[in-house]
Amino acid sequence: MSARTRALGRNETLFREINDYIADMSRALPPEDQFEVLCECDSLGCAQTIALTAREYVAIRRNDGRFIVVRSHEEAGLDRVVSEAGSYLVVERATGA
Ligand SMILES: [Zn+2]
Repeated sequence: MSARTRALGRNETLFREINDYIADMSRALPPEDQFEVLCECDSLGCAQTIALTAREYVAIRRNDGRFIVVRSHEEAGLDRVVSEAGSYLVVERATGA
C-alpha cells in the first residue's frame, strides 16, 4: 500500500511539473485566456487535458497539496475534492504518505 502511494505521488508530481512548465509558457497570456494542462490523476495511461484559465491555474497552484484532475478521476479515499469547475476537480491529497 505505501509503495503504491509513493508511486502515485511521483506521478502526480511529475505531471504537475509538466503543467507548471506549460503555465510558464502561458504566462504571457491574459489571465482570462484558456490553456490546457494534463490531468494529474494517478492513472499512468491518462493523457486527458483540462482547459482552464491562467487565473484559475495560478489560484490552484497557491496550495502545494492540490492537484487538478478530470472529473471522476479523483482517487477515492485518498483525494479530497476541494472545488469543482465545469470539467475538472481540484483535489487535495494528504501529504507525508
Ligand atoms: Zn486522469
